[in-house]
Amino acid sequence: MAHVIVPKPRKIVIINPGHGRKDPGCVPKENGEHIFYNEKMVTEREIVWEVSKHMKKEINDNSMETNLEAAISVQLMYGEDYEHDSPGERPDLAEKVKIPVKKLNEQGYDVVFHISLHCDCVENPSAEDATMYYWDPNDEKIARQILMKYGENVVMNGEQIFFGKRSQPVQQRGLKVLVTAKQLGVAAAYIELGFLSSPLDRKWLIDPECQKRMAWVLSSEIINIYADKAV
Ligand SMILES: [Zn+2]
Repeated sequence: MAHVIVPKPRKIVIINPGHGRKDPGCVPKENGEHIFYNEKMVTEREIVWEVSKHMKKEINDNSMETNLEAAISVQLMYGEDYEHDSPGERPDLAEKVKIPVKKLNEQGYDVVFHISLHCDCVENPSAEDATMYYWDPNDEKIARQILMKYGENVVMNGEQIFFGKRSQPVQQRGLKVLVTAKQLGVAAAYIELGFLSSPLDRKWLIDPECQKRMAWVLSSEIINIYADKAV
């Protein structure tokens, strides 16, 4: 009998940079004034986009050895496809999660993980640090593992930047993106990289070197969890 080799579907991770062209997300202010960096207004959208781009590169650069690829799903929020949304209309988030997952499945990919990137913003400027959300109890372990690595290894000038200041850094929450991913059978996590409303966190969130470090830590851990090392 002929032996038929069915290729295993390539595993793929969706990185979802929160917010979009018409939705900047958190726009921090200090003393009532907007904050600028390199003459550009600081917004959550730009920060998560930069980190997402670096993550995609990190994972794709390693995809030959790890059998894991990354897609930044620009349909989700940011990028060309966002223009298709009617002006003033908030995109249907559930659809924005479903469309790329279905498309990737049709292309023969196995979507193993969906991660959303955001920054926190609150009134109290002393609230600091990263927070990770999950919905499906099966995803709690992965959420904890990634947040732990992020806290331990996002180190700048010898200092852990986003670690140890929150009492509950990992929480279960029914965020729509997480619930939708669960319905599609995709593991999912949602990270608030830090507080843009905190002057201390913000200093690092807008720092290009720190953004690269954040991306490197997050993608290394995702590769660690999901990649089959090539034989
Ligand atoms: Zn956000």
